[in-house]
Amino acid sequence: MQRIAYIGLGNMGFPMAAHLVQKGFKVDGFDLDAAVREQLPSIGVSACSTIKEVVAQADVIISMLPADQHVLDVYISGQYNLLSLASKARLIIDCSTISAQTAVTLFNAAKAQGIPCIDAPVSGGIGGAKSGQLTFICGGEQEHVTQAEPILLAMGSQVFYAGEAGCGQIAKMCNNMLLAICMIGTSEALQLGIDFGLDPKILSDIMRASSGNNWTLEKYNPCPGVMAYAPAAQDYQTGFMVDLMNKDLNLAMQATMQSKTATPLGMLARSLYQQHARQGYGQRDFSSIFKLFAQLPELATEK
Ligand code: NAD
Repeated sequence: MQRIAYIGLGNMGFPMAAHLVQKGFKVDGFDLDAAVREQLPSIGVSACSTIKEVVAQADVIISMLPADQHVLDVYISGQYNLLSLASKARLIIDCSTISAQTAVTLFNAAKAQGIPCIDAPVSGGIGGAKSGQLTFICGGEQEHVTQAEPILLAMGSQVFYAGEAGCGQIAKMCNNMLLAICMIGTSEALQLGIDFGLDPKILSDIMRASSGNNWTLEKYNPCPGVMAYAPAAQDYQTGFMVDLMNKDLNLAMQATMQSKTATPLGMLARSLYQQHARQGYGQRDFSSIFKLFAQLPELATEK
């Protein structure tokens, strides 16, 4: 049986590790947060109190960390220097959403230590992590993605190979930029209809059956009262937070500086999501951007 070291067991990592245990993997876990470590035995994960301890017996290392700096700190530059401790490991799977540049840095540093490494960011959010229905979007050498597949499919339902190291992150970044743009477009179209007296439920049905249909209308309607199970029905308290969408849009905009790709809608989406976060919605689901449009007439009359 493969022994897995799991690093970073927050909103995503915790339920993902639980699925690994349920599928029969032996999982050791480390999180900086002591309160998180205390919860690990409840899902069958052995809690370790240091990086050294968690990787000591690991065949495979999985990380699910907040951002670039955390990944660099854990694996390379920080006090932990995991790569120098993981002599037994045969594979690193980094599931964090980070820049492609950092993913390539990690890939090269791991390769220098003789450890294969793939970037495997996910789509599907906390709901997908809990239900074991995540999509993994992978970059690295194809044989290593194939090697990782049984582990990834224990936590998700789909695995895509996007290309060489960093390509998983690029594909994820493109998807999330498009998602942000779609969510804003859907929100403003719905508000336009509402302002003319249309019922948002009926308008949503019409657009879903017409050429404006998209994922946000099908699964994640941003207007309260339209979909019983969407975050809008719970005052946007659960789901994919605005702060995380802003992180992803920042990654996309940084990448466009390198590629010199014109992304005017991506830039506008970032500016609107930043404005939304400044209004106090950073910890609400990203579909709450709908409120930005619902508020605009009030703002106009205030002036
Ligand atoms: P989170 O903040 O809930 O969890 C991150 C965990 O990492 C925390 O428990 C933190 O204590 C731990 N951590 C930080 N530094 C550490 C270190 N040096 N060593 C060990 N543990 C450390 O974040 P999350 O929502 O689980 O997101 C994790 C990643 O998944 C992010 O890159 C995010 O962009 C991505 N993601 C999140 C979602 C979502 O809906 N939450 C969806 C898709 C992708």
